Amino acid sequence: MKSPAVHGIHHITAFAGDPKRNLDFYTRVLGLRLVKKSVNQDAPDVYHFFFADAHGTPGTDLTFFPFNHMSKQKDGWGLVREVSFAVPTGSLAWWETHLKESGLEVQAGITRFDEAVITFRDPDGLRLSLTETTAPREVVLWDRSTVPAEHQLRGFHTVRLGLHTPAPTVALLTQIMGFRGVADDNGWTRYESGAGGSGTYVELAAFPDEPQGRWGVGGVHHVAWRLTDAEEEMALQRVLAQAGLSPTGKIDRFWFESVYFREPNGIVFELATDGPGFHRDEDMDHLGEELILPPWLEPKRAEIEAALPSIG
Ligand code: ZN
Repeated sequence: MKSPAVHGIHHITAFAGDPKRNLDFYTRVLGLRLVKKSVNQDAPDVYHFFFADAHGTPGTDLTFFPFNHMSKQKDGWGLVREVSFAVPTGSLAWWETHLKESGLEVQAGITRFDEAVITFRDPDGLRLSLTETTAPREVVLWDRSTVPAEHQLRGFHTVRLGLHTPAPTVALLTQIMGFRGVADDNGWTRYESGAGGSGTYVELAAFPDEPQGRWGVGGVHHVAWRLTDAEEEMALQRVLAQAGLSPTGKIDRFWFESVYFREPNGIVFELATDGPGFHRDEDMDHLGEELILPPWLEPKRAEIEAALPSIG
């Protein structure tokens, strides 16, 4: 059976510590829009924040579960190593100054795959980078961002996975999920999916001498890949099941439909549909202003609100 190819990064979900600090950093320093303020659907005493472009366009959305009392990530293989956002060519100097003024340590002057990069960490230690690119992107700039339009993040550029043994992950990416090899750079191999280019990349490197990593604050929980609709998603799900990857069935996340599985080095992948989108239950002008619960949690609203930490 020919499996449908994924179309790039849909969203990435990570663990944060203090929810207020997380909210502050991604909206005020990185200038993203909080497009949805919700709860972890499997643990509704924890927030789920969705930071994205103005419309929550697939490919722009970094989401967080802020756990106040979770331990830090233990680095090692089997984890996402870094999340990179695209920025317009010529804007890294502005970002370097802005991030340093915000109290961050920034490594500048890096070149990867012939692209200019700066790296830094968010307040919880999550490794981030910004990559300059002129590639056209599906993104809606936000007129109320703290960051001027010409410098605003354009969505994800790439995601770096630290593996023990790349071969089986490469086989999954290229033989089942439709990725193609692009280039090697300094120990990392880049693959692209769908139409290719910025936002469709994944980069792999081997770290067999490190211990296996463990999830925690400052780390990524999963990477979600774009599928056009549930039909395409479930066609890929069936191929993953035949390949022995034990994907879940289709899970209704209300703003999109999801399937989860672990790639062979243990990193959690999700398949997510492009729609229905974040405006399904809020007006586009007012995304993220209220605590939104999916309909099946709405009857428990009072209880859920009482258990959430204060972010005021
Ligand atoms: Zn997800």
